Amino acid sequence: MSKKLTLTIVVILILCIGIGYWAFYILKKQSTSNQNSISDIKKLKVVTTLFPIYDFAKNIGKDKIEVMLLLPPGVEAHSFELTPGDVIRINQADILIYTNKFMEPWISDIIKGVTNKNLLIVNTSEDIKLIPAVFHDADEPAGSMDPHIWLDFDNAKMMVNSIAKAFIDKDTSNKAFYEKNAIHYNQLLADLDKDYKSTIISCKLKKIIYAGHYAFGYLAKRYGLDYIAAQGISPDSEPTARDLAVLIDQINKDNIKYVFYEELASPRIAEMLSKETNTDLLLLNAAHNISKEQLEKGISFTEIMKNNLNNLKIGLEYKQ
Ligand SMILES: [Zn+2]
Repeated sequence: MSKKLTLTIVVILILCIGIGYWAFYILKKQSTSNQNSISDIKKLKVVTTLFPIYDFAKNIGKDKIEVMLLLPPGVEAHSFELTPGDVIRINQADILIYTNKFMEPWISDIIKGVTNKNLLIVNTSEDIKLIPAVFHDADEPAGSMDPHIWLDFDNAKMMVNSIAKAFIDKDTSNKAFYEKNAIHYNQLLADLDKDYKSTIISCKLKKIIYAGHYAFGYLAKRYGLDYIAAQGISPDSEPTARDLAVLIDQINKDNIKYVFYEELASPRIAEMLSKETNTDLLLLNAAHNISKEQLEKGISFTEIMKNNLNNLKIGLEYKQ
């Protein structure tokens, strides 16, 4: 065989191998993209209103759902209003999950006006006994209930069950998957509850002074704590001079060393109280929503609750 012929055969062989690899790569890429688009189509589209619901849904649905939180990062939940874009997103979803009509008063308009007749709307308070709201402002409506249900971990478990049930209704083939995840998540909530109970029982002080709105009524009731907040059920209401005087009296009378402040709100009231009473400030985060930074870090509801317990330990004078 001549050298020239050998060289030609080698070149042809190299070309064949190259074309083979290229064809394999293209086919593989196409197949992956087909698989992605198939799984994207199958994913349940879930719209949630508040961070706890968003996080519960994520833990139950995992990769079988595409979940979005209506509240943009850092936005105060009580004063949130839907944008036209939100209404479009809700109309394109399979499931909309909300807290209750006291937290999201716009829900009745959505229920009446939704054009997507296949949308499943889930009220996570349906099986939960709500407690009456505490108001500071005489103009606030009578008969309103406290919307912060997720701050009682038994309620949170019922919310998890309502969410899992909705996923199963819409995607029966993955029933076992959703059930298993819900059971696992409810165990995390039960562990949290156990930690709260055993810690708070060993605290010297049984009173939370809160330089924010009345968000922790459920938590205080569950663990037998007194709860005094500067504002009513929503952070929109300004505390009156009388409200602040009551707080200052309580702090001085009980020789309280720590005042708790709320997330995503102006620290003005907290700083004023701290200065007036020579107390230190500790965060007690009701987790309505999260900041952009927390979203990027992937903070979870249970993590926020663990941080709260660490601060309660300090503020309520935990004794071993
Ligand atoms: Zn609130």
